Amino acid sequence: MIRKLLNKVFGRNTSTPKSATKLTIISSKRHGIRRNQISPCALKITQQLQGAGYTAYIVGGAVRDLLLGLVPKDFDVATSATPEEVHKLFRRSRIIGRRFRLVHVMCGAETIEVSTFRGPSSDDEDSTAIPLTDQHGRLLHDNVFGSQEEDAVRRDFTINALYFDPIKEEIIDYLNGFEDINAKEMRIIGEPEQRYREDPVRLLRAVRLAAKLGLQIETETAKPIGDLAPLLQNVPPSRLFDEMLKLLLSGHALSCLVELRARGLHHGLLPMLDVILEQPLGERFITIALKNTDDRIRQDKTVSPGFLFATLLWHEVLSCWNSLQSAGERPMPALFKAMDQVLTQQHKNLAIPRRFDAVIQEIWAMQPRFEARIGRKPFRLLTHPRFRAAYDFLQLRCESGELDIEVGHWWKKFIVSDPDAREKMLSAPSTGKKKRRRRSRKNTASVSHATAETMKQETH
Ligand code: ATP
Ligand code: MG
Repeated sequence: MIRKLLNKVFGRNTSTPKSATKLTIISSKRHGIRRNQISPCALKITQQLQGAGYTAYIVGGAVRDLLLGLVPKDFDVATSATPEEVHKLFRRSRIIGRRFRLVHVMCGAETIEVSTFRGPSSDDEDSTAIPLTDQHGRLLHDNVFGSQEEDAVRRDFTINALYFDPIKEEIIDYLNGFEDINAKEMRIIGEPEQRYREDPVRLLRAVRLAAKLGLQIETETAKPIGDLAPLLQNVPPSRLFDEMLKLLLSGHALSCLVELRARGLHHGLLPMLDVILEQPLGERFITIALKNTDDRIRQDKTVSPGFLFATLLWHEVLSCWNSLQSAGERPMPALFKAMDQVLTQQHKNLAIPRRFDAVIQEIWAMQPRFEARIGRKPFRLLTHPRFRAAYDFLQLRCESGELDIEVGHWWKKFIVSDPDAREKMLSAPSTGKKKRRRRSRKNTASVSHATAETMKQETH
């Protein structure tokens, strides 16, 4: 029965999957999770569903995180009730998704995702009408309801397939996920290559979750990752973008990126990453930027995706900008052309939604203006709605050694000074007089040279 079930989930001609199911019920004495650790909203939903005669559990990332002693980011509920039945039970709810139907149940400001147990797609041996997978093995249909056991088997890693019943305070484990959590191991469910082929995003999830949770990727689970990296090209770009964003906002962006690169998974995401990281300046810039991002996330501060992508792509812009100038283009038109080229290329690979373009472009385009420390220009720059982001970006450039640190220090001081002090700073010879400016520019990187050219054009 189990063999048949697994064969159904993993496709028609599969060899015996490496994981077989074995139901284990783990008591609270062993696992230590109490119902008061569950969000009141998720608790209420599971109670209500169970009261109406359905089975309902907290599932996935929240159970895993609680077992690892972490605070879950959100709580998902899995149930035997269909989306319509869930919707009927909760006044403040709506059914979402077309291919993958879920219910969002709202209580106060919180929204809980409630999904119906899913099973294998209808891969009836005789059915040839709708292909189950594409030519690379990617699952095209996965929206068939099933039993709880089937639901466990179609999840990605054993540690993500644990169900917590907050009423009984028990964990239901079909795939030995509890032991894997204790051993700090990430193990894919089923035959690794096939599971990655079904959904190549699992390659990225393996790396992200291992880095975020401090887990080892089990040997067999890790083995095919590098070879299967090209499958990411076959994933819709918008999904890749979502996953990349999760990775960058995980609080472990730096270690994730290092891992992605080590496993060769970055090619389709940030094609220029190798080139950037091979240059000491580029490597320092990205390292500092991601470290800052990780620190901010861990301190519960907001991080703007636009800012993040502006940093990841900046050295691509720089090299493109420099080549255009070497080919005789004037600095500012060259900068805008470089920005355009880099973003167009990136839209093809990663589908950074166009809503981020404006922020990214503004941050980049404002950089030369930080060096024009004369007249009213710095005052005008201060009032720019995107000033703060562009200023933070400037500081990263200075910190990484791309730009003279003196520029960053000057702005740090200018921002906190009163109006009189600001006027004095602008009339100080180190910034106001052209002669001095030319001398200091000699020490800065080629970008600053371009900026100086721009300033000359503007002032003449
Ligand atoms: P986090 O929310 O911390 O990023 P998570 O594991 O909760 O991690 P979600 O995207 O919220 O990630 O997914 C919830 C659950 O859905 C997972 O724990 C897993 O059981 C299942 N899941 C998510 N993505 C996949 C996938 N690509 N293939 C199979 N199961 C998946
Ligand atoms: Mg989650």
